[in-house]
Amino acid sequence: MVVVEKTPSAFGPLFDSHSHINSEEFDADREQVVSRMRQAGLIGAMVIACDLGEEAKLFEVIDAHPDFLCGAWALHPEYEDRREPTVEEIAAVCADPRIAAVGETGLDYYWCKGDLSWQKERFVRHIEAARMLKKPLIVHAREAEADALEILIDNRAHECGFVLHCYGGDADTARRAVDAGGLVSFTGVVTFKNAGALRDVVKALPLEAIMIETDCPYMAPVPYRGKRCEPALVGEVAKTIAAVKGIEPELVAKTTTQTALRFFHLPACCRTI
Ligand SMILES: [Zn+2]
Repeated sequence: MVVVEKTPSAFGPLFDSHSHINSEEFDADREQVVSRMRQAGLIGAMVIACDLGEEAKLFEVIDAHPDFLCGAWALHPEYEDRREPTVEEIAAVCADPRIAAVGETGLDYYWCKGDLSWQKERFVRHIEAARMLKKPLIVHAREAEADALEILIDNRAHECGFVLHCYGGDADTARRAVDAGGLVSFTGVVTFKNAGALRDVVKALPLEAIMIETDCPYMAPVPYRGKRCEPALVGEVAKTIAAVKGIEPELVAKTTTQTALRFFHLPACCRTI
């Protein structure tokens, strides 16, 4: 595994709205990863568990930094062969105060083919649980953005709030998501040389509708491509968004962090900005 040795220069305040630092890729050096986050100007991060039985480890990771980390849990749309949790089971896990959102849930047409009614039904159950709890949804929609948005609208997801995470769709669908009360979140992919179309989506959206994330350990931004991604690199996403919009990275950092704190209903103690 190739890891980042040097922390990028700090500016902030930054918030990584989607990370998987609970995954085994970080078992050996999670404390150093969190130290680098603080050094890089992050004031917090969302940590997401994607499978049945991963809740205990998620809580263990968050409990080590309760002032800094919050969590989300859902059964990921890529996992077809799992027992389906009921709405009540999802709600029982996500009612925990350490859980700030239900997710990631949604649709994946890239990895999953054929009759995907199971995936849609699972998505609807997660939306129902989120509305019950009044906690926002973190939505994974891969090559399925328009269908996911339709399901979100049909099931009144605006009542709890939703974000289309790791957005890779077109500007029209992104704008419709924002009009429907949602947010759009961008990863390090937006920094890639060949991601001109995605930078056009950034251009088309108001800064207030955008969050930033790493989705680590995947998709390390330029100039860290090929290394293990970690939340300390989320500033690179902010820098690219700033360049696209012709504004200062500090403004992108501050605005996206305020948006994240509001969206995830994070406690007043975190609102130091
Ligand atoms: Zn993810």
